[in-house]
Amino acid sequence: MPVSPLAPDVSVVVPIYNEVESLPTLVGAIAASLEATSLRYEILCIDDGSTDGSTEQLRELTQTHPCLRAIVLRRNYGQTAAMAAGFNYAQGLTIVTLDGDLQNDPQDIPLLLAKLEEGYDLVSGWRKNRQDAALTRLLPSKIANWLIGRITGVRVHDYGCSLKAYRAELVADLNLYGELHRFLPALAFIEGARIAELPVHHEARRYGKSKYGLGRTFRVVLDLMTIFFMKRFLTRPMHVFGLAGIVTMFLGVALGLYLTFLKFGLGQQIGDRPLLILIVILISIGAQFFSIGLLGELLMRTYHESQGRPIYRVRDIWGGDLR
Ligand code: UDP
Ligand code: MG
Repeated sequence: MPVSPLAPDVSVVVPIYNEVESLPTLVGAIAASLEATSLRYEILCIDDGSTDGSTEQLRELTQTHPCLRAIVLRRNYGQTAAMAAGFNYAQGLTIVTLDGDLQNDPQDIPLLLAKLEEGYDLVSGWRKNRQDAALTRLLPSKIANWLIGRITGVRVHDYGCSLKAYRAELVADLNLYGELHRFLPALAFIEGARIAELPVHHEARRYGKSKYGLGRTFRVVLDLMTIFFMKRFLTRPMHVFGLAGIVTMFLGVALGLYLTFLKFGLGQQIGDRPLLILIVILISIGAQFFSIGLLGELLMRTYHESQGRPIYRVRDIWGGDLR
């Protein structure tokens, strides 16, 4: 996409779901923080189907803040979708995301941008002094961060921190589904991004209440499996399912041969043996693994080819005039 000369340097993307009391302070604080730099900026607030008057509040704020754009979604789609909408409408060369509840401090934005300039594609905030309930929020989050780090190989202390800065072209490549916004560093890492971390401030929620409860823990674990699969096997599903298929099939056939020998070699009755049932199950599961692997291969080709998505990512090209 050609970059227009008037494109802002920074787009600040904020998902908003029922945050009416926070909005005026929030927009003011983001603007103040960026006015202090020489950067051109825009603030994109995505109203994710709010019902508390945030929508009207946003409309009013656009009158007084020329750099504010409000994108109003038709209903509540969830934070991931709201952020994806923000990424689509953002025109800046870099994108900063933060929460709309004043838990993140807009004063940290220039620091994140400076870190990005050091040559990273993504800078993730780290709420070192996180102000949330210990047992229901901090503990699950600690475990989740550790697990995600182990499984994805991206050791970020705080996946859940919304305050992050990205290079716009990185975000353009990421497809977000479900609640995958939490895994943006991992997804970016799959795309070959250079990732850094920066401690940021965090405050307790001043107004309204959190949109998430403990149920989020289970969704995180399920999403984690998706990410694990994508990272390891996105371009070669047959390698997972094929291997599982070979192992189960082999076991089934080997045991089957044994029973055949018992029946025809030694003349034993095999009709009432549990082993027979196991063999049937092993062989049919093996066949299923194979078919899933083959389907996976087909789907993977559709996934990459329908979007013109190469299976690699280029960071730079030097020399010659090929671009
Ligand atoms: N949010 C959203 N849509 C939703 C849920 C949340 O846009 O369906 C926004 C919310 O307004 C806030 C951000 O996502 O700006 C993070 O939500 P919250 O503060 O409730 O999460 P927590 O900080 O408690 O993890
Ligand atoms: Mg919050």
